[in-house]
Amino acid sequence: MAEHQRIAIVSVYDKTGLLDLAKGLVQNNVRILASGGTSKMIRESGFPVEDISAITKAPEMLGGRVKTLHPAVHAGILARELASDEKDLAEQNIEKVDYVICNLYPFKDTVAKINVTVPEAVEEIDIGGVTLIRAAAKNHTRVTILSDPRDYPEFLKELDAGEIKESSRKLFALKAFEHTADYDAAISEFFRKQYATDKQYIPLRYGANPHQKPASAYVKEGDIPFKVLGGAPGYINLLDALNAWPLVKELKKSLGKPAAASFKHVSPAGAAIGEPLTAEERKVYMVDDIAGIETSALAQAYARARGADRMSSFGDMIALSDIVDLPTASIISKEVSDGVIAPGYEPEALEILKKKKGGKYLVLQMDPEFEPSKTETRTVYGVNLSQGRNDVVISPDSFKNVITPKTGGPLPESAQRDLTVATIALKYTQSNSVCYAARGQVIGLGAGQQSRIHCTRLAGDKADNWWLRFHPRVLGIKWRKGTKRPDKSNAIDLLVSGQLPKSGAEREQFEAFFDEVPAAFTEEEKTEWLSQLTDVVISSDAFFPFTDNVYRAARSGVKYMAAPGGSQNDVPVFETAEKLGITFVEQGIRLFHH
Ligand code: 5GP
Repeated sequence: MAEHQRIAIVSVYDKTGLLDLAKGLVQNNVRILASGGTSKMIRESGFPVEDISAITKAPEMLGGRVKTLHPAVHAGILARELASDEKDLAEQNIEKVDYVICNLYPFKDTVAKINVTVPEAVEEIDIGGVTLIRAAAKNHTRVTILSDPRDYPEFLKELDAGEIKESSRKLFALKAFEHTADYDAAISEFFRKQYATDKQYIPLRYGANPHQKPASAYVKEGDIPFKVLGGAPGYINLLDALNAWPLVKELKKSLGKPAAASFKHVSPAGAAIGEPLTAEERKVYMVDDIAGIETSALAQAYARARGADRMSSFGDMIALSDIVDLPTASIISKEVSDGVIAPGYEPEALEILKKKKGGKYLVLQMDPEFEPSKTETRTVYGVNLSQGRNDVVISPDSFKNVITPKTGGPLPESAQRDLTVATIALKYTQSNSVCYAARGQVIGLGAGQQSRIHCTRLAGDKADNWWLRFHPRVLGIKWRKGTKRPDKSNAIDLLVSGQLPKSGAEREQFEAFFDEVPAAFTEEEKTEWLSQLTDVVISSDAFFPFTDNVYRAARSGVKYMAAPGGSQNDVPVFETAEKLGITFVEQGIRLFHH
């Protein structure tokens, strides 16, 4: 039998390096079959080339839509070294193809043009080329596929040396699959924007900053799991909403009560479940004028979430686990806030929210049944990072492993509840993070610090400030008429954090808010008041590496402490907790979040 003359099918849009390639193929006695434009260029340069029609016996048709789509081409590429395949080829008089050199129509360049129409884009959807590439890549144990002109020199070097190495064929095939996948992704991206805006694709004005354009939110499967009922979401709004929503969903599931979260910069400023509010709490959280709050657990939850750290919650993105009712919407309407995500809205609540911010308030309706995929991927500086989603369940059962005191029985229900609140909050907080909780709510949260002790101090100081806001001096403040809520929150924060301006313009500004200017707290007054703060819990997203954290926690009324173990200092940490009368629970799951 005469030796088979090797065959290359060449069909390239990007004709870079084509003539060098043709020369190399000819020198190695490879028969070249090429599609219209490709064969024309090779022929005009004087190299021997045949049109694909030499084997298909069919002309290019439909203005180029059908060029290489033919069994003579594809059976020649896909045939294996099998007797049955050989027989099929022989019966049809088809010869095996050894090399496929193909790159695709420039779909991306076309759709990048402003105002491109659907028909224009459609014409740039390569069919035969993708089929050539996929077929050759599929059969890469025998066939070499070149989809990138930058690979021609290496290919020709190996061809001159005799044959294409198996390792090269594998890498060329991988590149080919990536080429077609990228091409298909560009096509679906174009049609998503054309046909499924709002369903699968939401254009955003910009990304994290105004100069970061373009920006969008999209899903590749199914629909975006929320509807925009009011306003237009921004990039950071969505980062907040899509972290805050699972937080409240999980809190509700684990504790059986409506839950709320108040997010800022992708960490909670507060999170809580709906526990009844005392008269004092209603005052501190500035909700004593909200009608119906006594009977709305959702409103109570948001009052607590917003009340934890009112200063940080300014301009928050809110998540609510339940259908939003009138009392909850009434609280929101009084606060400076950016938006809300919830599974639904009662009509009168929606009416209030849609009017907020001159109609620009962001109102998102979340599909409560939505389950995200098991893996999540993001791109950072051009590199894709992929991980399994953090779907670990935190519930009161997560706090059964009491380490110290050794005789310690199960935790009281309230401690289990508060540790659940604190720990679920941490699951959605930028790491490192530490959270203090009491009364079913976050009272101090330290997020995004590089050292654990700085989290513990930051969160502890916030918890102290929260508690000082209940001091009779704060509750009895005589505000000057007309003082706005944010100004009140800022002035109270100055007072309780001990940052009161002593003189000058800042002092004058501070004093202007009051009919009677409150006195600063002395160290003794502070210490005395803080000694009345008890039964606080603390949770940490990873182990406490040093005992300093335990000493700091104890100063803010902490009685229960939960963290993963694993530090070299575990034993001293446990012993210090015991010495300070703190129950240490090992919560075995690290909860870093970024
Ligand atoms: P040429 O410039 O050789 O006429 O065309 C090369 C381009 O045609 C390549 O980008 C290749 O992917 C594409 N192509 C090859 N076969 C077919 C086919 O049967 N139909 C279509 N629409 N494009 C093809």
